[in-house]
Amino acid sequence: GYHRVLEENRKLYNQVQDLKGNIRVYCRVRPFLGRQSNVTNTVDCIEEGTITINTPPKYGKGRRAFNFNKVFGPSATQEEVFEDTRPLIRSVLDGYNVCIFAYGQTGSGKTHTMSGPKDLTENNQGVNYRALSDLFLLAEQRKGTLQYDVSVQMIEIYNEQVRDLLANDEIRNNSQNGFNVPEANLVHVSSTFDVIDLMNLGQRNRAVGATALNDRSSRSHSCLTVHVQGRDLTSGGVLRGCMHLVDLAGSERVDKSEVTGDRLKEAQHINRSLSALGDVISSLAQKNAHVPYRNSKLTQLLQDALGGQAKTLMFVHISPELDAVGETLSTLKFAERVATVELGAARVNKDSSDVKDLKEQIANLKAALARKE
Ligand code: ADP
Ligand code: MG
Repeated sequence: GYHRVLEENRKLYNQVQDLKGNIRVYCRVRPFLGRQSNVTNTVDCIEEGTITINTPPKYGKGRRAFNFNKVFGPSATQEEVFEDTRPLIRSVLDGYNVCIFAYGQTGSGKTHTMSGPKDLTENNQGVNYRALSDLFLLAEQRKGTLQYDVSVQMIEIYNEQVRDLLANDEIRNNSQNGFNVPEANLVHVSSTFDVIDLMNLGQRNRAVGATALNDRSSRSHSCLTVHVQGRDLTSGGVLRGCMHLVDLAGSERVDKSEVTGDRLKEAQHINRSLSALGDVISSLAQKNAHVPYRNSKLTQLLQDALGGQAKTLMFVHISPELDAVGETLSTLKFAERVATVELGAARVNKDSSDVKDLKEQIANLKAALARKE
């Protein structure tokens, strides 16, 4: 009776999500910062899923438009940005694997989206905190039927080396598939307070290794992984889902003639891993038989959570200033490549009768649930 309705509701919900596509790309434009009032804006206009960039002559014709699942303008709030991420959190509790990435050049707002600004308040918390707080809330709502257990890991990938941010030693080279960094501390959490403590610890550990001249956070990937296990109280069956929240290294190209030594090595590692990520996502979007996971540490670690039934969301960040237009265009081209095929499918599905049909069924189930309460 009641359990079946709940179960059906969950299934349908995920089918609707599937129809929207398993790979989604959202673009977010950072506002101008502080005293930049007379700087030229490269963003010409934003219309739903389309962003148009004014391109100076050096970069070709005057304007160029890019399409994504969603574009958030400079005035979008943290709350608005998270609203469109929410469905994925539900999927994690339903046993799906999810990857959420923040991509963009240094200074474009990746950390702002994922963690929030330095002066954190309840209102400007980023996706990481909101995701976990939603997770706890939903788990609480389901506690009559499912009992959830949540634990987290936090790691950093720097120059293809993995480091545990919840401990302090480098994790030995691991040859496992998927996100099993068994050596990385897996910490049980039961409230948002626990999560905040851990995020702070991770942040402090991340700063170790950074110097004044070398802000390591912009040249390493950081990943907060949430493992969820749900036990069905009637059937005893166990659901497992995980979610990776990844703040990627800055995507800017460095001028090879200007950097040498460690900086050049870092840049090469970043370039290689970001293009490996792009290759994996676009080959998943094109449903290629071979997906090149093995080309970087990042894609190896995330293998189980990319592709198959997994859901991927990439937040692509751009800076609005004219002097960033070169990076902005290469960021948008990267994102377009990652999104193209799947976006095409998602668009076709948007108004399809399948979705309408499922929506109708969900409405009916909701009504049935309401009657039970
Ligand atoms: P990244 O992590 O990509 O290097 P940050 O997230 O650190 O960039 O953002 C750079 C600066 O811009 C920070 O001071 C940050 O607080 C600010 N910033 C970024 N995005 C926004 C936004 N949407 N609203 C207000 N300030 C932002
Ligand atoms: Mg950052």
